[in-house]
Amino acid sequence: MNTETNPQKMYEALAAKLGDVMPDFELRMKAEVAAEINRLKSEQDVVILGHNYMEPALYNSVPDFVGDSLELARQAARTDKGTIIFCGVRFMAETAKILNPTKTVLLPTEKGGCSLAGSITAEDLRKLKAQFPGVPVVTYVNTYADVKAESDICCTSGNAKSVVESLDSETVIFIPDEYLAQNVAKETGKRIIFPTRDPRKANVDIDYQMIGWPGRCEVHDKFTVEDVTNVRKQFPDVVILAHPECHPDVIAAADFSGSTSAMIKYVEKITAPRYLLLTECAMGENIAANNPDKEMLRICSVRCPHMNEISLEDTLESLKKRQYVIDISPDILKRAARSVERMISIG
Ligand code: SF4
Repeated sequence: MNTETNPQKMYEALAAKLGDVMPDFELRMKAEVAAEINRLKSEQDVVILGHNYMEPALYNSVPDFVGDSLELARQAARTDKGTIIFCGVRFMAETAKILNPTKTVLLPTEKGGCSLAGSITAEDLRKLKAQFPGVPVVTYVNTYADVKAESDICCTSGNAKSVVESLDSETVIFIPDEYLAQNVAKETGKRIIFPTRDPRKANVDIDYQMIGWPGRCEVHDKFTVEDVTNVRKQFPDVVILAHPECHPDVIAAADFSGSTSAMIKYVEKITAPRYLLLTECAMGENIAANNPDKEMLRICSVRCPHMNEISLEDTLESLKKRQYVIDISPDILKRAARSVERMISIG
């Protein structure tokens, strides 16, 4: 955590970490904003959370905690601060609100969407449940609160396999990430169908144990097996890490697959000549900044446009104007909390 309120000292701290990846004039501008945020924060009852995909200047300055969405929501529950500013996208801020219903949760942007969360509505899920009555629903945390409220249990990319295996049911509905579902189906030995994409299969095929939904992360969907092959040709000793939201063929071609937190831990733990991270590019920059002795290759032009909406400048406005408040109806809040807490209870 960087609590510096002096712009010059903040600039020096950021330059030491990010001097290689950001131009100097930008670092100076960002340092001024970050120092001002820290000054205002110290006078208010506020905690700032920063997702791993935040721009490097934000990630390395104002957050009290950094991590993936669930880690951050849980961290928030442990603080005594009354207001949470969530530097991430909307579904993440909603999860923080679900786990901290009495606190005010602010998102620094009005939008903060996500192609995965936007791929399915609560009404879509109700229809799917009606088509497969009695089948439990496992919902990836990258969804909105009303979808979580319709679900039996949530999961992250890190615990999806254990969550599916924890259920007392051979068949499960797994939404909304198509690739994560296929990766989990492979790991658990289940056969998967996608009834909304191929309705005929759902009617005639009885040999399936997973029912998926065709949602995709627009960022991880861009990585291909060809990317992996090309990098390996040039750097045969590279260690390649891929996020489970990547296509199953990309996961199979990589050396390691895990959630954002698992990737960070893996890079810190192993010693390799060089690494390639197949994930959102700000996260690659943040890992590189924290591991200056390790060589990170970049094929990265894959910045999440939704995460990119949240900057230090927006965070300052959020702090000054107390915007934008995450508001979820008490009924949805209560039902969504049940699915999230059920996941937390199994670890
Ligand atoms: S990186 Fe993918 S899953 Fe994450 S917010 Fe962006 S679109 Fe959604």
